[in-house]
Amino acid sequence: MSADPIPHELIRFDNVTKRFGDNTVLDDLCFSVRSGKHVTLIGPSGSGKTTILRLLMTLVKPDEGVIRVNGGQLFPAGEKEVREVRKNIGMVFQQFNLFPHMNVLRNVTEAPVRVLGLSKDEAAERAKGLLDLVGLGDKQNAKPAQLSGGQQQRVAVARALAMRPQVLLLDEVTSALDPELVAGVLDVLRDIARTTDITMLCVTHEMNFARDISDDVLMFDAGRVIESGSPEKIFSDPEHERTREFLGAVL
Ligand code: ADP
Repeated sequence: MSADPIPHELIRFDNVTKRFGDNTVLDDLCFSVRSGKHVTLIGPSGSGKTTILRLLMTLVKPDEGVIRVNGGQLFPAGEKEVREVRKNIGMVFQQFNLFPHMNVLRNVTEAPVRVLGLSKDEAAERAKGLLDLVGLGDKQNAKPAQLSGGQQQRVAVARALAMRPQVLLLDEVTSALDPELVAGVLDVLRDIARTTDITMLCVTHEMNFARDISDDVLMFDAGRVIESGSPEKIFSDPEHERTREFLGAVL
């Protein structure tokens, strides 16, 4: 666990607008996430949820607005500042994106060695601890293709955590999995949410998971947050008609 006893604003979007051509995907969006919180983004497909995670990973840039992470500015910002701020952020993607030619251990040690400058031994020690955490301590030497999708996704979680990010972004991490493999991945993430103080920002269609782990749920529609609150409030007593419609369709 990292020492961060006093919650502070870890992520802040101020008036962020993102367009793809004529399509305004995020529309003057403002929201913030405090450190240690688990926040879930829900809402119809195409409402801009994944774009938020991609902005935080600097895979896309906004057209307007300011994005801050842990006191540093991610946009607008120079390359050097972006590199520093990005070190706070880890992401797990829908498609696990493991390096196919590297074994499991190397997948987890690669970035800490290359980006953080850890020695191979230090990185291996850290990786082994994390592989134990995700229940794959015995798979260090396997190649990704020898693992199930659920196991590969758990390696991807270990790989993200190996960089000791302050915030973990989870982008529909179970949507590419066979149904019987979903629970194992969600259980690992529930454990991480319970036993670490990492901040989580999740996009998910798994509403039970969202209800279990979230401190706050943000309901998106057409690139804006139309409603936010505790999972109890959003799932049991939503105020907005669009939220009721959405939950009616997915629950
Ligand atoms: P969600 O995660 O809520 O389903 P997304 O953030 O993935 O929504 O997408 C929001 C909108 O942005 C969609 O209309 C999608 O087609 C569009 N979009 C996302 N990425 C791109 C891209 N790289 N180029 C063009 N349009 C995109």
